Amino acid sequence: MNNKVILISIDGMRPDGVMQCGNPFVQQMMQMGSYTLTAKTVLPSVTLPCHMSMFHSVPPTRHGIGTNTYTPMVRPLNGLFEQVAAAGGVSAMYYGWEPLRDVARPGSLKFAGYLNAYAEDATDGKLTDLALERMEKSAPDFVFLYMVETDEKGGHDNGWMSPAYLGYISAAIDNVKRVYEAFGDTYTVIVTADHGGHERSHGSDMPEDVTIPMFFLGKRFDAGAALEDVSILDLTPTIADILAVNPAPEWEGKSLAK
Ligand SMILES: [Zn+2]
Repeated sequence: MNNKVILISIDGMRPDGVMQCGNPFVQQMMQMGSYTLTAKTVLPSVTLPCHMSMFHSVPPTRHGIGTNTYTPMVRPLNGLFEQVAAAGGVSAMYYGWEPLRDVARPGSLKFAGYLNAYAEDATDGKLTDLALERMEKSAPDFVFLYMVETDEKGGHDNGWMSPAYLGYISAAIDNVKRVYEAFGDTYTVIVTADHGGHERSHGSDMPEDVTIPMFFLGKRFDAGAALEDVSILDLTPTIADILAVNPAPEWEGKSLAK
């Protein structure tokens, strides 16, 4: 495929969290690309339901996964990974929380790497290393990089917006910067979150839980443009559009690429 995309999901990253984390690359992303600080995720604002919606462009009422336990869809539909595979594209996925393996059906990934963030330290950085290594070697058309430390070790262990939480976001943004510096010329880089959080939890319809930031760095996005009315359901149609992959008929979101 002529155009390539890496999607980076930073679990539990709130818009005010990324704005206050102190990492100067956040301002650079807002100047170089398009962004939103007011995108909406779906309910329940929980990791697996939100990522299923991120990759299938339908709400949990349609895909049917309402908890962090995967169940096969009653009315199956293709997600992004399946559509990329059907178009002959190559996908890779690197993740630090095992249940996420179910966002891609068997046969739709050529490369994958999992590190257990509960058993090992600094998995966000190590997963980024794995993704970078694979991009260097094989240049997959679509790469998904998922970092969980902001949610688990930041939000749940220390509280959303705590200094420790902001520190994990800043470290995750450092990893985004490494990806951008190595591959910003050849890949569109998209950074998002699945949900936010409050106190030491999430899952509710509170604005703190359902509002997420997104950053889009690539030639299909205007520099410095604030995007309005964005949903997590828009990510998969946007990525398919950039890759020139057909959307599945069931997808409900819209492409944000110009
Ligand atoms: Zn969580």
